[in-house]
This record gives sequence, C-alpha cells and structure tokens, in this order.
Amino acid sequence: MLAVTEAGLYCARGDFHIDPWRPVDRALITHAHSDHARPGSRAYLCSEVGAGVLQLRLGASASIRGIPYGVTLDFDGVCVSFHPAGHVLGSAQIRVEYRGEVWVVSGDYKLQPDPTCRPFEPVRCHTFITESTFGLPIYRWPQPSAVFAEMAEWWQANQAAGRTSVLFGYSLGKAQRLLRGAPANQGPILVHPAVAQFLPAFCTAGVTLPEAPVATVERVRSAEGKALVIAPPMTADSTWMDALGDVATAFASGWMMVRGFRRRRGGERGFVLSDHADWPGLLEAIRSTGASRILVTHGATNPLVRWLRQQGWEADSLVEEHRPPSTPSGDHE
Ligand SMILES: [Zn+2]
Ligand SMILES: [Zn+2]
Repeated sequence: MLAVTEAGLYCARGDFHIDPWRPVDRALITHAHSDHARPGSRAYLCSEVGAGVLQLRLGASASIRGIPYGVTLDFDGVCVSFHPAGHVLGSAQIRVEYRGEVWVVSGDYKLQPDPTCRPFEPVRCHTFITESTFGLPIYRWPQPSAVFAEMAEWWQANQAAGRTSVLFGYSLGKAQRLLRGAPANQGPILVHPAVAQFLPAFCTAGVTLPEAPVATVERVRSAEGKALVIAPPMTADSTWMDALGDVATAFASGWMMVRGFRRRRGGERGFVLSDHADWPGLLEAIRSTGASRILVTHGATNPLVRWLRQQGWEADSLVEEHRPPSTPSGDHE
C-alpha cells in the first residue's frame, strides 16, 4: 500500500506521498514541523486546523488544502483521512484504506495532555507506522502539571534575584504549550518573534493562550528581571540574547532526561517536557490501534522493533535510506 521511494513514503495506487522530503505532485502532511513539511511540492493536503501553521511554514504561494479530521477523501479508490495525533496544533495521523486493508501513518504523536492541540485518537488498522523518537524504556515523562509547577518556582527564584528567565522551546507547538502552562499572574510573559508568528493561528483554532507581547530588548529590560521570555533554542547564542542583560536560561524538551544532552547545553536548567510519546506512550498507542504489523521510523528504531517482535508483533524498521538527516537547529525534538 505504502512504500518508501527516493522522495519519501509513497502510495502508488492513490498517487500521493506522505511527508515527502523531495518536491512531489501531491503531498499529504502530518504536521508543520520542518522535517515533515518541506517546501516545493505542487499541492499539499493537511488537517484543516493545521493549514494555517503549514501556510506560515511553506509561504503564501504554497497550495494547501485543509481537510477536517475524520473526513474521507478518495484517490482512485484509496480512501484517506486525517485523525488527531496530539503532537502539535493540527498534527494528524493519516489513515489509508484500500479494499478493506488499513494503514495508519502516525507522524509524530504523544498521549500526554496538551491543551494546545487535539488529543491523540487511536485509529484501528492492520499496519501502523509509528515514530520512535524516544523509543527506549528509559524515557518516561513526568506529569506536565508537575513540570509546570517546577518552572513556576524557577521563574520565581529568578525574579527574586532580579534575573530575566529565558525558557527555550521549539517555536511551533512546544513554545505555545509553555506559554499556556506558565502562571499568567506571576509577571510579564514575552515571546520571541519566531514564537509570536504562530499565535494568531492558535487563536483561530480556538486555543486560548495568555497575552504575550513580542520580547523586544526594551520590553525585557524594562521588566527589570521579572519577565519570562519564551524563545526557540536556536536563539541561545544570538545578539538578541546578549542584549537582554542578566538572564537565567532553561530548556524544555524530552532530551532533558539525557545527561549528555544537558551537558552539551552548558548546564542550563532542564525541564522534561516532550511533544513525543515516551516508551509507555508508544506501547499504549501501538496496542490501541489493534494493528498486527508495526513499522518503526524516526529515531533509534531497533530497540522498539526487537521488543515488539518478542511480544509477538510483526515489526520492522521502515528503511528510509534517502531521508536527509534532520538538522539540530530544526524544530524537531
Ligand atoms: Zn514534529
Ligand atoms: Zn518528526
């Protein structure tokens, strides 16, 4: 039904690609992160709520059609529909059916609660293509409410020391989740322009977020160490950062569970908050599909494949030899 070609995952019968990494005629996109949504294709289809952020990512000239979750399209007898993946705003699993055989491509997903996007919905299928960004048993996320409580304490301690709090999170999804989870009455919350550009799309989608002006150097400095600034990690070494004065930095990511990663980030504070499923989440999602065959992609796939086989699943890594490596400066985590 689906096979990996030089351009990415392809359905020959329906003549479409899913998250292709090269330009194609018809690209079905799971979500607007840069390693899934690449420019240059002739026509894009994505979930209706995801269309706004995808347009921002691909530019005004990209031809994008948003399809409401659960609505079925027919491509030469192949039925296709989008279903919430719980990863970021508009993220979708893509269900593909031909003559009763059903495949689901998960894209990125998580099962943890996240008020900035629709929760993951299990979709029954025969073959499930799952991501495995955090596909090791060591990855077990704490409750988001506990993480947000730690963040609030960190911000308060910085305020007491007169030091601006800069919280790094990827610009689409994580940053808005941080904004939503931050205590709005504790002080001014400001966002980097890369984060601000997506806020209207969240508002249009009905996601309520606290008021957050753009973090200009003047605004940050005039808050005299009381502000919380939400910014993408790539701004860590920027002139903008240098101009903010005395700051304490922290990074919110699933990678904060890994000591080596924390060390590379120069000892700043780490909060374990991921937009991907942890190990128990991956297993729960896989079970909930009822699929007998699991194809694993994204990240270290072997441990999950091995575990699934031991439990009696038919499981394989999805071989994507032509996939370009994702850049560390990208927004994937
Ligand atoms: Zn993603
Ligand atoms: Zn991804």
